[in-house]
Amino acid sequence: MTQARTPAPSPSGEGDERHQIVIVGGGAGGAELACQLSKRLKDSEEAAVTLVDGALTHLWKPLIHEVAAGTLDSYGDAVDFLALARQKGFRFRLGAMEDLDRENREIQLAPITNDEGGDVVPRRRFRYDTLVLAVGSTTNDLGVEGVLEHSHFLDHRDQADRFQEKLFQKFLHVQTQQGDPEEGQLDVVIVGGGATGVELAAELNFAVEQAAAYGLDRINPKEHMRIHLIEADDRLLPALPDRVGAETEKNLRDLGIEIHTGDLVTRVTEEGVETRSGKSLRAGMKVWTAGIKAPDFLADLDGLETNRINQVVVGQTLQTTLDSNIFALGDCAECPWPERDTTIPPRAQAAHQQATLLEKSFLCRLEGKSLPKFVYKDYGSLINLSQYNTVGRLMGNLTGNITIEGFMARVAYRSLYRMHQRVLFGSWRTLLAMLGDWIGRTHHPRLKLH
Ligand SMILES: Cc1cc2nc3c(=O)[nH]c(=O)nc-3n(C[C@H](O)[C@H](O)[C@H](O)COP(=O)(O)OP(=O)(O)OC[C@H]3O[C@@H](n4cnc5c(N)ncnc54)[C@H](O)[C@@H]3O)c2cc1C
Repeated sequence: MTQARTPAPSPSGEGDERHQIVIVGGGAGGAELACQLSKRLKDSEEAAVTLVDGALTHLWKPLIHEVAAGTLDSYGDAVDFLALARQKGFRFRLGAMEDLDRENREIQLAPITNDEGGDVVPRRRFRYDTLVLAVGSTTNDLGVEGVLEHSHFLDHRDQADRFQEKLFQKFLHVQTQQGDPEEGQLDVVIVGGGATGVELAAELNFAVEQAAAYGLDRINPKEHMRIHLIEADDRLLPALPDRVGAETEKNLRDLGIEIHTGDLVTRVTEEGVETRSGKSLRAGMKVWTAGIKAPDFLADLDGLETNRINQVVVGQTLQTTLDSNIFALGDCAECPWPERDTTIPPRAQAAHQQATLLEKSFLCRLEGKSLPKFVYKDYGSLINLSQYNTVGRLMGNLTGNITIEGFMARVAYRSLYRMHQRVLFGSWRTLLAMLGDWIGRTHHPRLKLH
């Protein structure tokens, strides 16, 4: 006797007559929106949520420099999208968006190929009623010669993992080679003295100290690994208040990090970097963290308005200027900030607040109500200098604007990640994750040693 089979759900959501909300990009903003919205629309006959991402796992991006330095194991903090989708009740589809058809309300995903170039999944199209672009940003090479060929980038977890592997191989090589390291063999040049570059410099300093402490004792951290940090502006962290920049610079100089402000990199080569002031710095590894842009495919996306760094232009409801069915949030959106007469900065806290707004907006949209406007609340910025210090400025109605550093600053810095985990997993599981991290610290090495 043959049993009647339940038909498998269509991969593109076809045949599902519900209002299709498709979120492209499951990062700091998109993953939160998918989870929050699915909770609100659980078992809804009205609407369904689909999250699309080019990767199978989610890693909160502000952790990426710790993965690169090896002070955080990406496997511990990465979240499987398929598991999250099952827990929260949304659909997850793997694939990188490459095109948009606004007339037919469809997005197109690039084919997925294996390492040998064979097709695993063909090019696909998905229908949407409401589309959210939340694809984040990538590093901007600013057209400087040799950057793409010779620099590392920290846009995705894979890149951070590759950097960590290479760094660890260099540590092993120095430990086992005949004679002292050659000049520049372990040196690192970081281009860009914004938050990413500054935090990475401190994290790498900690990593090399740990490598020596964990038995790679032929490495002398102070002598064998010079870390250069180059910034075009005349001070570090130009987007943050002067005092935070100055305090950060002092901390990094005390660690022995060589800071070159007011200088521009003009060329990157296999051997190192050259600067406008005539410096030639030799380095085995170069990391480019100077500026961001939204992914290139957004630049020409079926006529949507974009700016010079490919960000999709949105209004205060986060709807794109030319299509009210399409929204954008986070780093890939240019969103007005009328109170400061500028645009919202590319920060995880902005993506988080925008995701919270869109959860409300979509419920209004389903009920035919008008949409709320986005009002950004700037809670300040904190810079984490690995285990050495955390400095920053907090802004609040009760506290006013205060500059803080040390333990309290570190607690505040970590709380942004805990808030993100809370949206994804709920309060209990976040508490358990915190406990797990704390227990892990007692028996795991402080550096990834493989
Ligand atoms: C080292 C570092 C430290 C930082 N520290 C802080 C901090 O302390 N505080 C703070 O507020 N901000 C910080 N930021 C900035 C913060 O990480 C970003 O502003 C934030 O992650 C932006 O969120 P998002 O959702 O827009 O994009 P992301 O979090 O970058 O997520 C984008 C997602 O889109 C997916 N994607 C990309 N292209 C496609 C495509 N074509 N199709 C499908 N999916 C796609 C990606 O796989 C990814 O999952 C830091 C950033 C870095 C790099």
